Amino acid sequence: MATRLDGRELAAAIETRLAATIAAHQPRLGRPPGLAVLRVGDDPASGVYVANKEKACGRVGIRSLGAHLPAATEAEQIRARIEALNADPAVDGILLQLPLPGGLDAAPLLMALDPAKDADGLHTLNLGRLLKREPGPRSCTPAGVMALLARAGVELAGRRAVVVGRSILVGQPMALMLQAADATVTVAHSRTRDLPSLTREAEVLVVAAGRPRMLGAEHVRPGAVVVDVGIHRRPEGGLCGDVIVEEVEPLAAAITPVPGGVGPMTVTMLLVNTVVAWCRRHGLEHGLGDLVP
Ligand code: NAP
Repeated sequence: MATRLDGRELAAAIETRLAATIAAHQPRLGRPPGLAVLRVGDDPASGVYVANKEKACGRVGIRSLGAHLPAATEAEQIRARIEALNADPAVDGILLQLPLPGGLDAAPLLMALDPAKDADGLHTLNLGRLLKREPGPRSCTPAGVMALLARAGVELAGRRAVVVGRSILVGQPMALMLQAADATVTVAHSRTRDLPSLTREAEVLVVAAGRPRMLGAEHVRPGAVVVDVGIHRRPEGGLCGDVIVEEVEPLAAAITPVPGGVGPMTVTMLLVNTVVAWCRRHGLEHGLGDLVP
């Protein structure tokens, strides 16, 4: 039976470190780190995510400076809001909550972020830094997965990893981070042929396809470490991932639960990026280099 990789426990341990870093530096700096979460429209899942992020900020001592704009807001007004946050000295991190309402293109708005305040690591410059293995804020979900794997002592160097999904938000940065850790990585997507044969080669399998309960026993090599990034509300109530957990758990060496695996780590990495940005702006040591480079 697989070991469960507990994201809640690790997130709580990292939050304790963040609170200590903030408490150590705040007296000298005279202000806490600030995170602005910009939400546009009324996507219900986003409402839950934003509330979770704001609560997490409160737990560690980050000031939340969010704004909620109506769905009909024009791209130019959102850009103006981002530019005001870029210029605001109380703001160290900015997150544009995705998805945006239909008709709004996220790409130019993400480009309007000050890369130094890009708390989600999605600005083109920061994705380029990841590609070149240069320091910078990292995409929160894959960075959270890397932290979970490190905490569980999963050896990556020389191992065969498969990432299912190639989005800019999850799949692509995940593959780059695994490669940077010296895994041999294959990326699968919706046009991949014979997915089960490919995923059965994986010693480390990360699933971010956004398809509820898509991967079962036939996709998993016995003894693999399985990371389930997917999160879906089930019609009958409760949440599930992209993996059929009752089929995969008896086979795998380790698995992330849904909920309680990758989700809490995504929120925590947002806080990490914000605290690191706050420290960098003031030339202070952050001590979080094991989590982001
Ligand atoms: P996305 O943008 O929809 O991307 C999904 C990717 O999966 C695409 O690359 C797609 O391929 C691929 N795919 C779809 N169906 C497939 C299939 N049958 N076989 C193989 N590949 C397939 O989704 P995302 O933003 O990356 O998110 C993925 C999942 O993670 C979602 O469930 C999302 O809710 C969840 N998520 C969770 C967290 C968290 O904190 N836990 C954070 C972010 C996202 P193509 O490129 O060919 O279309």
